[in-house]
Amino acid sequence: MSKKDKKAAAAHEKPADAVAVELTHPERVVKDYAPTPDYPHYRVEPGEKFDLSERDPDASEHFQSKEDVKEELKHQRDRITDLQARLYGEQKRSLLIVLQATDTGGKDGTIKGVFKGVNPQGCRVQAFKQPGDEESNHDFLWRYHQHTPPRGMITIFNRSHYEDVLVVRVKSLQPEEVWRERYRIINEWEHSLCLSNTTILKFFLHISKDEQKRRLESRLSDPRKQWKFSPNDLKERELWDEYQVAFQDAITKCSTPYAPWYVVPSNKKWYRNVVIARAIADTLEAMDPQFPPPEKGLHKVRIPD
Ligand code: AMP
Ligand code: MG
Repeated sequence: MSKKDKKAAAAHEKPADAVAVELTHPERVVKDYAPTPDYPHYRVEPGEKFDLSERDPDASEHFQSKEDVKEELKHQRDRITDLQARLYGEQKRSLLIVLQATDTGGKDGTIKGVFKGVNPQGCRVQAFKQPGDEESNHDFLWRYHQHTPPRGMITIFNRSHYEDVLVVRVKSLQPEEVWRERYRIINEWEHSLCLSNTTILKFFLHISKDEQKRRLESRLSDPRKQWKFSPNDLKERELWDEYQVAFQDAITKCSTPYAPWYVVPSNKKWYRNVVIARAIADTLEAMDPQFPPPEKGLHKVRIPD
């Protein structure tokens, strides 16, 4: 066997997870590299005994107010803006960001607060509502797969394929034997995306039931927010405990080395934004996207008058 063949065979023998990790380099797997190691990441480690009810949605480190994180948030946003320009120029890899939360959890606010300043040309937001007829007539991943980010892009899923093990489970829209298989299917699908150079980050915006009450009340009383209120939100709220169990299960079963879940304390919107911005900036930095090299001989080029 030639040297080259031996190397190829060795790569082939590696467990699939190891190959995906090498290819995607998410923030967590970069060896000897800790961009800002002091802050909590709120990442759920694969195989960790994870209890959602023990996570404090009010946490905010030593920060007391929005003013306290202003500088830090700006710093993280600047990092994202710079790294996104490189990712876009490189055109080799992509980043998929999944946002999940209960109603009023802050998905829309996160997108506004974290991605301010990012070049819209390199970034897409895709929201998923109840599936339409055509979508329901396909396998459940069909509608999501069409919107995964192409090379060079960041795509944000505002709700995602996880709805198919959340609302579908809680509301019994499919029998258990159907949704139960989906955790495995989701892991395999995410793995296949990683193997095609898509890095995946998944954020659960964790708020308390009290905080949801406050946010729903504010939607009812603020004329600029009333359009967001749906009577359906109250029906969903009655199912709060069932949703917490479904989130707990989805996060436990689907936090993998190649597509980790982050459980972000989100009662304080300003802290939530900082946590998410850090994780995205660190991940992009670990991916280390590079501008393509310039054409040779550029120094000789003169622009005619
Ligand atoms: P919103 O994001 O508040 O506009 O609401 C969208 C609604 O679509 C939520 O009630 C979701 O639970 C629902 N939804 C999203 N994805 C699915 C799905 N795959 N199956 C059923 N309902 C869904
Ligand atoms: Mg809603």
